[in-house]
Amino acid sequence: MATTTELQHTVGKGAGFSGTSLHTGEKVSLKIQPAPINHGVKFKRRDLPDEPTIDARIDNLKTVERATTIGEGSVRVHTVEHVLSALSAMGVDNATIEMDANEPPIGDGSAQPYVDLIKRAGVVPQDAPRRFFSVREPMHVEAKSGALLIVLPDEKFRISCTQAGPNNRFTQYLSTEITPAIYEREIASARTFVYYEEVEPLMEKNLIKGGSLENAIVVRGEAVLSKEPLRFPDEFVRHKILDIIGDLALFGARLCGHVIAVKPGHAANSDLARALAREHARATALAVPRVFPAGEGGLDVNQVMEILPHRFPFLMVDRVIGFEADTKITAVKSVSINEPYFQGHFPGHPVMPGVLQVEAMAQVASILLMRLARTSHRVGYFMSADSVKFRKPVFPGDTIFVHAEITKTRGVKLAKAKCHCVVNDAVVSEGELMFTFLDQ
Ligand SMILES: [Zn+2]
Repeated sequence: MATTTELQHTVGKGAGFSGTSLHTGEKVSLKIQPAPINHGVKFKRRDLPDEPTIDARIDNLKTVERATTIGEGSVRVHTVEHVLSALSAMGVDNATIEMDANEPPIGDGSAQPYVDLIKRAGVVPQDAPRRFFSVREPMHVEAKSGALLIVLPDEKFRISCTQAGPNNRFTQYLSTEITPAIYEREIASARTFVYYEEVEPLMEKNLIKGGSLENAIVVRGEAVLSKEPLRFPDEFVRHKILDIIGDLALFGARLCGHVIAVKPGHAANSDLARALAREHARATALAVPRVFPAGEGGLDVNQVMEILPHRFPFLMVDRVIGFEADTKITAVKSVSINEPYFQGHFPGHPVMPGVLQVEAMAQVASILLMRLARTSHRVGYFMSADSVKFRKPVFPGDTIFVHAEITKTRGVKLAKAKCHCVVNDAVVSEGELMFTFLDQ
């Protein structure tokens, strides 16, 4: 999929604006700042001692009543969905959002002020690939409110949304792919809407001091009240899509999938974000990562496992001692009596199977090849093993030094490596392995 080669982006420079916060009605200034790769989006409360930051991640979700609130410890940021929606849809992966209050400015109730801000700051690429999560199996969440969200596999990020008000009034439907251009044109300027009967008690309790017809559309019976006319005949469903994008931004990667949403709300949206985060964590634990650790030194077992998908009992590399130039690697495998194969190979006479030494060579060589390709998002397939010789038996307690050297490459598709395993300064096995690479 072409999208996996996309780069992460941040903003080109800091940019800010001021406005009113919805819940307290007080003035708030917000400034968006560039951030390094893999930083994600963080909110910074500049009005508090030590200026604490809060990661915009689903683990930090606190409440979903009418708006999405995140927090860490006792620090909160309310109503994060519109700014997160704009950042995500406009392609900003990494940013710090500085604020001097606990809520971003509500603006006109849409994400347009944030799109304008992002465009003012500029969006610039960074030197690391974007994290994507492609949904492989359909997923769904349901809420008591009647909300239903389904995600189907899709190469793109698409949302098909049905919005329905009380008694199915204002039922609207829209299906669209989400790209920066489409978002800016079709989604960003759709404003928040509220049903009068739902906000009346809040107004009485003085809970939405900053709310007005300037930053929300109020629906009362069949009447639609707002300061300016509707921006789209189906503005409501467009705003629902805006909120879905903002809430799903909390899951931690870019989604390749088709979200089908019926009567969505923040509770169901964030349930889906949580389910996606769980699936994404599960998938990345199984998959080969996209970034190779930098530097010429060795790799510990955790770094090895970031590169190789193999796990106990099939991981045949404990540690990489080092690389030489771009073509040689030395790694270590300690052979323990606890290896499961010794039980049957052979009872009373444990010997390491030769094919597993070949497997160790293949794993070590593929670490080198992925390093050479500066990517691990291709899968190396072991094609052939020539001139394999097993010279000495390997016993429990032995430490195998696995050496591999790339002797031939043809384009980016084929590579040949000469390998040997050494125990106590003697070659115990050797072979020439051939690999082919396929894009994952
Ligand atoms: Zn909203």
